Amino acid sequence: MTLFDQIQSDPFASDRQRMVEYQLRGRGIRDERVLDAMARVPRHEFVPERFHAQAYEDHPIPIGYGQTISQPYIVALMLEALALEPTDKVLEIGTGSGYQTALLAELAASVYSIERHAGLAQNAERVLAKLGYTNIVVLVGDGSEGLPQDAPFDAIIVSAAAPELPSTLVEQLRDGGRMVIPVGPAHAQELQLVQKQQGQLLVSYLEGCRFVPLITGQGYPSE
Ligand code: SAH
Repeated sequence: MTLFDQIQSDPFASDRQRMVEYQLRGRGIRDERVLDAMARVPRHEFVPERFHAQAYEDHPIPIGYGQTISQPYIVALMLEALALEPTDKVLEIGTGSGYQTALLAELAASVYSIERHAGLAQNAERVLAKLGYTNIVVLVGDGSEGLPQDAPFDAIIVSAAAPELPSTLVEQLRDGGRMVIPVGPAHAQELQLVQKQQGQLLVSYLEGCRFVPLITGQGYPSE
């Protein structure tokens, strides 16, 4: 395919490249696998059509049900911290638009993603199928319970804020596994990297962040 064909078939290719250079590489994201995946996945497909032209900008975009697609830099930071191997089995909580789900599918072997809004889950499934992903299972439910029947996971990524580290999810992480999760009160949280090593938990703090709340179960009591 020539560059001309690429631009013809994807009018957002240059916006996407700019996002990778300025918002990601420019702010210190170094993992080439993550940068490559973000240069490939068509983020605009995951936002409502009227927002296509803003899909590569550095701000949140509404995706319906009061939810927003995560900022590209935060997605990159979380993926880099997860240090995924191509053989990994991943659990994602909060599918939302499905954008990060697609990136996980590019970087790992299989992805289980849980979303509490059936409408968002259906929409994400539709876009992910259209783009040809076959290693993703999207489930509707309360992700704070995890997915015991498919545990343990090599990596767990939580895209909604928990008041504290959910022990149910920690239990579903295999030894040597990594979890990235925003932890803290509703208005401001810390992005944490949790590593399980010989039964011990190693917690490091990545950055301050602000996510929508993780609802029910071990999450916040109400929306
Ligand atoms: N990474 C997604 C983020 C979407 S926002 C994206 O970029 O599109 C976070 C999502 O978490 C929302 O869609 C919200 O409905 C979902 N969510 C909140 N609490 C949840 C829970 N307990 N179980 C599953 N999904 C949950």
